[in-house]
Order: sequence, then C-alpha cells, then structure tokens
Amino acid sequence: MKVRGSRKVEIQEKIIHDIFCNVCGKKIHKNKDGYFDDFLSIEKRWGYHSEFDNETHFIDICQACYKVLINNLKIKPDYGIVE
Ligand SMILES: [Zn+2]
Repeated sequence: MKVRGSRKVEIQEKIIHDIFCNVCGKKIHKNKDGYFDDFLSIEKRWGYHSEFDNETHFIDICQACYKVLINNLKIKPDYGIVE
C-alpha cells in the first residue's frame, strides 16, 4: 500500500530564447506566440577517423540562406513526398 501526499516542486525547464542563422548571423524571427519561423536544423556527429573525428556539429540555417544554398547545388534537393 502506498500512502500518497503532495509537495510543492519548483521545475526549471530549458527554453530557447533566440536562434541565429549560422550562415548570415541574423536572428530567426519569433512570432508573438513564441514560435520561430521555420528553419533548417542540422545535427551531425562525425565518425571516428573522419576529418572531424568524433565532433558533433549543430547548424541552424534560415530560409533565405537555405534558398541560396539550394540554388547553388549542382544536384537539387529531392522534392518528393515524404511517406
Ligand atoms: Zn541566414
């Protein structure tokens, strides 16, 4: 049998205040409800013996910079439907 009670607990959660585009350095817009405009977020953990041996890189790219990036690709992104 469990006898239950209650206690007041203070919770601290981590929130993201700002996001900056790694390419242009501009702040990614956040609306009045606290939602950021869409952006590309990349997290890459490089393998052992790669050029970045076991490093983890986090990169955020705004929509304007992403547009420039894809316009400069020799092979364009696949715009297929995600299943
Ligand atoms: Zn940018």
